[in-house]
Amino acid sequence: LKSPYHGGHLEVIVGPMFSGKSEELIRRVTRAVIARQRVRVFKPLLDDRYHLSAVASHAGRTIDAVAVRDAAGIRSNLALDGGSETTLLGLPGGVLPDVVGIDEVQFFGTDLVPLALELADQGVRVILAGLDLDFRAEPFGPMPELLARAESVEKLTAICTVCGAPATRSQRLIGDQPARFDDPVVLVGAQESYEARCRVHHEVAN
Ligand code: ADP
Repeated sequence: LKSPYHGGHLEVIVGPMFSGKSEELIRRVTRAVIARQRVRVFKPLLDDRYHLSAVASHAGRTIDAVAVRDAAGIRSNLALDGGSETTLLGLPGGVLPDVVGIDEVQFFGTDLVPLALELADQGVRVILAGLDLDFRAEPFGPMPELLARAESVEKLTAICTVCGAPATRSQRLIGDQPARFDDPVVLVGAQESYEARCRVHHEVAN
């Protein structure tokens, strides 16, 4: 599996919900596994949509993943923090995988940026997937800087649920009504859902 890049680098996969980011991450990781490369995939612990220990696409495909609380959790799993724990793949502490995949990158803090750069500088192919924009269509978490620093960026689109055009945004609905700009990200007890929408049909209530 020849990379067009010399050594480590950052690949970012972004787009709205349902755009196939997880599918694309799974596709790239599966190819690396077939090429007998050492791969480790991470996801934030808070996303327990389908599996605690796997990345799952909406269409149902999964790959094994390690759920971590934050970027420091990735560091200690890879024993980058000087820890001596043996990694899941049986690598001795400090030996890095060939490929590190991270899903739902938007939920990590900006301390993911120096970690991703450090891994790339040490020769790792780092594949990062996540939302570029939040439900208000504002840049999400560490994504802006990761997009700027990546060697490769793929922006995927979903299908707008209103008109069928390519969708670039995630519509947040609370009880069938568009969420407001300052609605809290976590609404306890609310009946909320998300849909892919194009620029024209994406709505944020005031
Ligand atoms: P993401 O990780 O970007 O949320 P997934 O890889 O989990 O996306 O899921 C993508 C899949 O979701 C598509 O291949 C398709 O089967 C399904 N899907 C459901 N609703 C839509 C939609 N509105 N537009 C495109 N795909 C959709």
